[in-house]
Amino acid sequence: MAAAYSLAWDVPLHGRNTFHLDARADCLATVHDATALPSLLAEPALQDLPLLVLGAGSNVLFATDRIAGCLIHLQCDSIRIVGDDGGHVLVHVDAGCEWDALVDWTLDCGLQGLENLALIPGQAGAAPIQNIGAYGVEVGTFIAAVHVFDRQTAAFDRLPTERCGFGYRDSVFKRAPDRRIVTAIELRLPKAGATNVAYAGLGEELAAMGGLQPTPRNVAAAVRRIRRRKLPDPAVTGNAGSFFKNPVVARAVAVELQSRFEGVPVFPASTDAERKLSAAWLIEQAGWRGFRDGDAAVSAQHALVLVNLGQATGPQLLALARRVAASVQEKFGVALEPEPRIVGATF
Ligand SMILES: Cc1cc2nc3c(=O)[nH]c(=O)nc-3n(C[C@H](O)[C@H](O)[C@H](O)COP(=O)(O)OP(=O)(O)OC[C@H]3O[C@@H](n4cnc5c(N)ncnc54)[C@H](O)[C@@H]3O)c2cc1C
Repeated sequence: MAAAYSLAWDVPLHGRNTFHLDARADCLATVHDATALPSLLAEPALQDLPLLVLGAGSNVLFATDRIAGCLIHLQCDSIRIVGDDGGHVLVHVDAGCEWDALVDWTLDCGLQGLENLALIPGQAGAAPIQNIGAYGVEVGTFIAAVHVFDRQTAAFDRLPTERCGFGYRDSVFKRAPDRRIVTAIELRLPKAGATNVAYAGLGEELAAMGGLQPTPRNVAAAVRRIRRRKLPDPAVTGNAGSFFKNPVVARAVAVELQSRFEGVPVFPASTDAERKLSAAWLIEQAGWRGFRDGDAAVSAQHALVLVNLGQATGPQLLALARRVAASVQEKFGVALEPEPRIVGATF
């Protein structure tokens, strides 16, 4: 029988983060069977090491060349239907499953809900961490429960969605990093119903594709086309997608900004007392789009994306991110918060 996990030491991470940074980790534990997590965590060699879960590395910035500690990488990737109430299907997805492959699997099964989230890189286990979202949809809407190993209680647990604390790019998992290792997610997906094409550009894309009907499959195809056009491909140019969250400010702050700066885009937030601003707009207006310092750059394609044009280091990208945030703070008085996890430094 194959081992439930394996350990490797002094591991290069260049191929394990989408910024393609040349960091190394003291240790990497690859887990093939999540039920073995308690045995893995009891390994004598790991007792004094900090632990960090690493999925596909598409939302991390290694800010140091050496990750002192052990990275835990889950490779279990089965998907199975575990319930059907007629209108909805309950799907159990192992954490190691590739997200976009899962989106295709649901479409092949005639299920909907995830089509707007097509082509987001990463593993299914990372999806609840920042409640991944795109084109007007957040995954939390479809998550029935998250299965975890809780390192605080040393026990497996199942958190129904009410315990997940999902918010904009936020969850209980993000607020207590590494406390819970997500082993699987349970999705509750509708078999039918209207798709969500309200987000700017989606309807136009379907029209440009020959006036396609907004079926889940067509919406996924439209989302993929827009994303390929708008975002640099991490396989070609190292990046972690949006580097900053869209700032959420008090409504009065948004109104005041609109009075001082022409054309400030303002969006609804989760409460009426707040508004969401466009981080990309603020960064672009502060003059950063296309800025390059060595190989660390702000994408010329999309101002929200920091890119590694070749040999940038984590500290160089972090320094650039700090400069961008400081200049937005100075010009607009708005604080930007990074979206990826910064490993080995604070922002
Ligand atoms: C080109 C590009 C486009 C992107 N577009 C979007 C987008 O539209 N919307 C969006 O929300 N995100 C987007 N992202 C960010 C990223 O793809 C998602 O956040 C994704 O869910 C990260 O998955 P991952 O497996 O790569 O996680 P990693 O980057 O490996 O990890 C991210 C965080 O999750 C934690 N984590 C990962 N797996 C687990 C687990 N099993 N248990 C506990 N903690 C875990 C890590 O410790 C880390 O804190 C984009 C990234 C790129 C490169």
